[in-house]
Amino acid sequence: NRQILLASRPEGEPTAANFKLVEKPVPALNEGQVLVRHHYLSLDPYMRGRMNDSKSYAEPQPLNEVMIGGTVGEVVESKNPHFKAGDKVLGMGGWQEYTVVDANQRGVLQKVDTTHIPLSAYLGPVGMPGVTGWYGLVRIIEPKAGQTVVVSAASGAVGGVVGQLAKERGCRAVGIAGGPDKCRYVTEELGFDACIDYKQHRDLKSLSAALKEATPDGIDGYFENVGGMVLDAVMLRMNAFGRMAFCGMISGYNGEPIPMANPQMILVSRLKLQGFIVSEHMDAWPEALKELGTLVATGKLKYRETIANGIAEAPEAFLGLLKGKNFGKQLVKLV
Ligand code: NDP
Repeated sequence: NRQILLASRPEGEPTAANFKLVEKPVPALNEGQVLVRHHYLSLDPYMRGRMNDSKSYAEPQPLNEVMIGGTVGEVVESKNPHFKAGDKVLGMGGWQEYTVVDANQRGVLQKVDTTHIPLSAYLGPVGMPGVTGWYGLVRIIEPKAGQTVVVSAASGAVGGVVGQLAKERGCRAVGIAGGPDKCRYVTEELGFDACIDYKQHRDLKSLSAALKEATPDGIDGYFENVGGMVLDAVMLRMNAFGRMAFCGMISGYNGEPIPMANPQMILVSRLKLQGFIVSEHMDAWPEALKELGTLVATGKLKYRETIANGIAEAPEAFLGLLKGKNFGKQLVKLV
C-alpha cells in the first residue's frame, strides 16, 4: 500500500518536499472492518489549509501521517455484514492506494450507485464540491429567475456547478476564470452567458469595464472562490440587496494578504455576506445530492476532470491545483 505522508509544513507556497512517499503492508482485517481499494483520490484546495499548524475551522493534518482526502473505490474484502466484495464506496481514505475501514461507524463508508453516475463523479458534481456549489447558491444567494449570478473559479469543480444551477433557475450566469480555454469551456460547454478571463486584466479599472459589459443589469448574487481584485470589481457592481456567498479565497491560501478595497459597498448597496463550510450543513446534503445526481445522470449537468496517474503523482497534481493548472475537478487515478 503506497501512501503519501505530510513530511513537513510549508512556509508560503508548498513544494513536493513537504510530502513523502512510503510503502506499507496492508494489515489483516478485524471483525467489522472492510478493505477498500481506491480507484480515485480527490484533490481539493482545503488540503492546503490542513498543511498549516495554525488554528482554522479544521484541525491541522498531523505530520508523518497519511494526507487526508476523499476517495472512491471498491470493497475487495469484508468482515462487515453491511459490505461485500465488489461494492462501490465513497469514503475519506486519504492519499493512499488502500484503506482498512471500521465500517460500523456511521457514515465513514457509503455505498454509491454507479448504474447511471460514474464513480469519479461522487468526488465532483455529485459529491462535496457539487453540494458546496448548491449550498452557496441555493441557500445563501437564493437566486430568482431573471437575476444575475457571478461565480469566480468558474471552470472548476465548484464553480461549474454554481453557474449551471443558476441557469437551471432562469438566471443570467457569468463566470470569471483564468485563460481563454477555460472561458471558452465555461460559455460553450457549460452554457454560462458570459465569462471573463481575469488574467487579461492587469488593473481594477480594466476588470471592472469587462464586468460591466458582462453584467448589463448589475449583479444580484456572487459566489466567491478566490478573493483579491476579482472581489473588488464585483463589489462595485453589486445591486442593492445583493447576496454574496463566501466559499473560498484561494488567492490567499499561501498566506498572501487579501485586502478588501471597497467594504463601504456592503453598506451602500445593503449587501448580505455569508461565509460557509459545506460539511457543517449536512441537513442540506440529501436535497442537494438529489438534484445534482438527477442532473448528472440525465446529462444536463456537465463537468470536466483533470486526472493524474498513480499515487506518486498526487503531490505535483495538488501543487498544480493551487496554481490553476487543473481544468475542472482534479483527481488522481489509482487503479
Ligand atoms: P477548482 O477546481 O476551482 O480549482 C481551483 C481553481 O482556483 C484553479 O483552477 C484556479 O482557476 C483558481 N485559482 C488558483 N489560484 C488562484 C489565484 N491565486 N487567484 C485566483 N484564482 C486562483 O477547485 P474547487 O472547485 O475544488 O474549489 C473552489 C473553491 O471552493 C476554493 O476556494 C475552495 O477552497 C472552495 N471550497 C470551499 C468549500 C467550503 O465548504 N466552504 C468546500 C469546497 C471548496 P483559474 O485558472 O480559473 O484561476
